[in-house]
Amino acid sequence: MLEDSFGRRFYYLRLSVTDVCNFRCTYCLPNGYDGLPAEAFLTVPEIEKTVQAFAQLGTEKIRITGGEPSLRKDLSEIISRARAVKGIKKVALTTNGYKLDKKIDDWYQAGLSQINVSIDSFDQETFKEITGHDRIEEIMSGIDRAITLGLKVKVNAVLMKGVNDDLAPIFQWLKTNPVTFRFIEVMETADQDVFFRQHHVSGGDIKQQLIESGWQSIIREQAAGPAQEFWHPEYQGRFGLIMPYSKDFCASCNRLRVSSLGKMHLCLFAEQGIDLRHYMAADIPLDDMVSAIVEHVSGKALSHELINHKSGAMKNLSMIGG
Ligand code: SAM
Ligand code: SF4
Repeated sequence: MLEDSFGRRFYYLRLSVTDVCNFRCTYCLPNGYDGLPAEAFLTVPEIEKTVQAFAQLGTEKIRITGGEPSLRKDLSEIISRARAVKGIKKVALTTNGYKLDKKIDDWYQAGLSQINVSIDSFDQETFKEITGHDRIEEIMSGIDRAITLGLKVKVNAVLMKGVNDDLAPIFQWLKTNPVTFRFIEVMETADQDVFFRQHHVSGGDIKQQLIESGWQSIIREQAAGPAQEFWHPEYQGRFGLIMPYSKDFCASCNRLRVSSLGKMHLCLFAEQGIDLRHYMAADIPLDDMVSAIVEHVSGKALSHELINHKSGAMKNLSMIGG
């Protein structure tokens, strides 16, 4: 099992398969994607080899992210190849939902276990203003289909002051839908410092409102991720809060990241990634990549330094995969 010098164990890999995105989320790519072409990113054999190396080190769960992973035509193949690697028990996907209604059956058949869909607002106009796309209806029908197929579904929204912080529509949706809705505090990135100052609000305010409305905190399992979750006897869904600015947020970190260009990032906000791409070539022994991963994990820092406005190499989250 991969372990760092603070005793944190990593059984979870977030693997970005592209930086390309078709949305223009105000907090991420407000001017749209303008970067490398699709051919620059990891190939299926490179992805498969990376998953094999991490699986040898005890990784059980792979989350495929981006950019927008569903823009890759070979996404179903990526899912099925990752799922077929010995030791991998779960393959999850984070998506903006653009192709969800059309593709969810394929992804399910390829072996997808969980899906996180980013929906910053259930209101058609607000959704359109944030993402640049009038797509909420199709995304919601894709979510219904994912639930019907029995997939574990989470909806993520970036919490923005005065934009989407009204809890009433979320409560209404959670009443009858067995999903987890999670607010993520907006994080400062090099490109988005002004947006951050205008919109950041602490999830602590939302937590207070949840408790006042009868939501109860769920005790976190040891291996759980960074979200604080809440349940309510009158609701089918759960509410989660991801508060990267809260004390001890990094203490429960259980994830490593590989970017779509093949760099391993020990933290979303680390100064630089460690290049693994040359180890992904077919003629390099798998053990070389395994050794490189082990060697570098011990260098993982105790915590990010967001509180000091240091966002490392991160210009926006589409670069490494949020
Ligand atoms: N395109 C996919 C999507 O939006 O779900 C996957 C990649 S996106 C970078 C992953 C997650 O990062 C999304 O839930 C998005 O809302 C979140 N995100 C992007 N920029 C962020 C920021 N500055 N602060 C907090 N979350 C952010
Ligand atoms: Fe694209 Fe996801 Fe960034 Fe939105 S958050 S611009 S959907 S990568």
